[in-house]
Amino acid sequence: MAVFSSPDFDQHEKVVFCCDPDTGLRAVIAIHNTNLGPALGGCRMYPYISDDLALSDALRLSRAMTYKSALANLPLGGGKSVIIADPAKDKSAALFREMGRFVESLAGNYIAAQDSGTSVQDLQHIAAETRHVAGTQQAVDDCGKTRSGDPSPATAYGVFVGIKAAVKHCFNRSDLDGVKVAIQGVGNVGFRVARRLHNEGVRLVVSDVNEASLLRAVNEFGAQAVECDSIHSQDVDVFAPCALGGAVNDTTIDAIRARIIAGSANNQLASVGLGQVLHSRGILYAPDFVINAGGIIHVHYMRSQRPWQESVQHVEEIGLTLGEIFQRAEDADKTPEAIADRIAEERFKPSLAADIRFAV
Ligand code: NAD
Repeated sequence: MAVFSSPDFDQHEKVVFCCDPDTGLRAVIAIHNTNLGPALGGCRMYPYISDDLALSDALRLSRAMTYKSALANLPLGGGKSVIIADPAKDKSAALFREMGRFVESLAGNYIAAQDSGTSVQDLQHIAAETRHVAGTQQAVDDCGKTRSGDPSPATAYGVFVGIKAAVKHCFNRSDLDGVKVAIQGVGNVGFRVARRLHNEGVRLVVSDVNEASLLRAVNEFGAQAVECDSIHSQDVDVFAPCALGGAVNDTTIDAIRARIIAGSANNQLASVGLGQVLHSRGILYAPDFVINAGGIIHVHYMRSQRPWQESVQHVEEIGLTLGEIFQRAEDADKTPEAIADRIAEERFKPSLAADIRFAV
């Protein structure tokens, strides 16, 4: 198994292999960069069919977290851990406690959070061995209501402000009244985005493979329901992928009629080159790792036990960041993803930031 010569290796600071035969734990913790702060990232559990795939996921996802946190202006670096096991049958308190001991051995350089295959309860087992865990805490909001570690409401709010920023840039208007938005997937995030948009006078078109979720959006917001395979081709202003990755792919791209693509799903572009295609067709794409950062902002504030309202204000900055990205992309005739990467690097690579200061 190659590490330094892996195509996913990108000057990662630390890659730790964890093994405990007693509990069956086999895991990789990857810390990509800690220039801005400790590396926060999910602890994923998945039955990888090879060690190479597990390593590749840890390397790739930890790098993505560095960029995401930098763009969200958080004092955090990027990390990720993957446990090679089946969440349906391999979980035990002992295994997660052992994982907690490995996290503890990194002395706070890596902070574990919930990810696919792990639950808040699993994280609580990890937290029995280390305090370097995020997302198990609760917070009280400004109305005195107890809020859980569920990041979905904050993610949805970030997507909402992101859509507003995109509409402002594209159509030069600050309101959303009468704007048409197609939401793919009205689950935890998509439904909340729909509610916020509905309250602003948006006309909604929705799709979901889950009939109950679909009906809820139709009944509560008067949304128009369409078949899953036609949501991307609706005659709308904004297409908001809030289900799975790859919504923009070789099959769907030619049929997209929206001027804006802005949603919560991770990895919305099935391949990097599609961003350039969207750009050349004048379709404004809000990079997913910028617009869906509300969740990590929320997790960070809960962990730091900072006031709820501060976290909400920080999520609102997603709109400002996207506004800057859109403008720089337009000025430089580059894709928003390329500009977003550049801004992140200006923030987490001190030498690059210094070069830019000397250049101006
Ligand atoms: P979710 O599972 O609650 O909702 C997803 C919804 O999409 C479900 O209702 C599901 O039935 C529907 N769906 C699945 N396949 C579909 C298809 N082909 N067409 C239409 N609908 C389909 O998940 P979520 O927490 O709302 O997250 C949505 C997306 O946002 C995911 O890609 C997730 O990775 C990403 N994301 C979520 C958060 C968060 O805070 N929850 C943060 C960052 C990114």
